[in-house]
Amino acid sequence: MADILAMRSARCEGTADEAKVGVASAAAPGIGSSIAIRNVVKAYGGYRAADDISLDINPGEFITLLGPSGSGKTTLLNLVAGFQKPNGGEILVDGRPIHNVAPHRRGFGMVFQSYALFPNMTVTQNVAFPLRMAGVDRETTERRVAETLEIMRLSEHARKLPSQMSGGQQQRVAIARAIVRRPKVVLMDEPLSALDRRLREQIQIEIRDLHQTLGSTILFVTHDQGEALTMSDRIAVLDAGKIVQVAAPVEIYRHPSTRFVAAFVGESNLIDVEILQKRGTTMTLRNQAGYVFDAETRSPVEVGRATVLVRPERIAISTAVTPNALPVTVRSAIFLGEILRIEADTDQGERLLVRCTDSAERPLPSPGDRLYATWRAEDCWVLP
Ligand code: ADP
Ligand code: MG
Repeated sequence: MADILAMRSARCEGTADEAKVGVASAAAPGIGSSIAIRNVVKAYGGYRAADDISLDINPGEFITLLGPSGSGKTTLLNLVAGFQKPNGGEILVDGRPIHNVAPHRRGFGMVFQSYALFPNMTVTQNVAFPLRMAGVDRETTERRVAETLEIMRLSEHARKLPSQMSGGQQQRVAIARAIVRRPKVVLMDEPLSALDRRLREQIQIEIRDLHQTLGSTILFVTHDQGEALTMSDRIAVLDAGKIVQVAAPVEIYRHPSTRFVAAFVGESNLIDVEILQKRGTTMTLRNQAGYVFDAETRSPVEVGRATVLVRPERIAISTAVTPNALPVTVRSAIFLGEILRIEADTDQGERLLVRCTDSAERPLPSPGDRLYATWRAEDCWVLP
């Protein structure tokens, strides 16, 4: 514990011999590096896997690249790491271009989906490896390895081989190896996707705590929207090689910039509407079934056709006939523990998804039941 506290006060401090390695050690100690990605293009044949990407990452920020498989997350991470060269644009770390700095001289910590540990080395030897490569002396190496194993709760496994450990423990060793040099930047490519859900959630928390402790800038890649929402200071959503939105998790969830983001992050009802009227920040809308409702919104949309997002947990349902409610017929109701997930159809066949807390007083809805759905004007987001 004392070691951890000592480390907190010496966040990202580089040793003298590490200061020579890589540009990432050059900034003021105590905080991670800034990364500026400027108009970066990476093409494979005719396909742009990174298509004019710009992103400013703040020192010490935890930023997540979120997108479906093939959207270009690994490509962008590899460009930052230096494993790939861009066809255009530039990447600056603490204000300096890094295109001429070899990957191993950038001083970044890296964690991949596969644990990629040396199978014939013990945990201690695996974690010590980057320090040995950097020529750090034996005493410093031993101290750093011991501290790092303690942070990652691996001390008791120090003498084991990777094959003697579970997947979760092996991935913690991979993370320990990535942070043992206290890098100012840590790059992680889907590090938890091979683990089961319980373990994944546990290590998510550990990585968040680690970020607090180290102060490093973390660039984290995942296709799991829940993971991105839980862990990040900001999320950059990728689609087909482009960044479609960069914002804090709450903003991404509540105010997605496109239909794609709304559908990819969380569950959503996307309702096609016509804007009948706009007075200040209040819009009156009509859906295809003729249902008229208000939306309180700071969306810039003015008139014409639009798409409204209403999150399933924002919809209230009643079995009693309710004025100004949208009548729907239940298709299915799934009991998820504390939550009921109900799929229902309007009379015009539009699907409505509702998530509500289960109540012991209320019987589960059955297919064919008639329900009355309402939501508040504040819970509507008109997609810009
Ligand atoms: P993600 O990590 O989001 O799943 P990638 O960055 O791995 O996506 O891939 C983005 C796109 O670039 C995909 O269409 C993929 O097939 C293509 N791609 C990636 N690496 C290569 C490569 N070395 N050669 C050709 N195409 C590639
Ligand atoms: Mg990938």
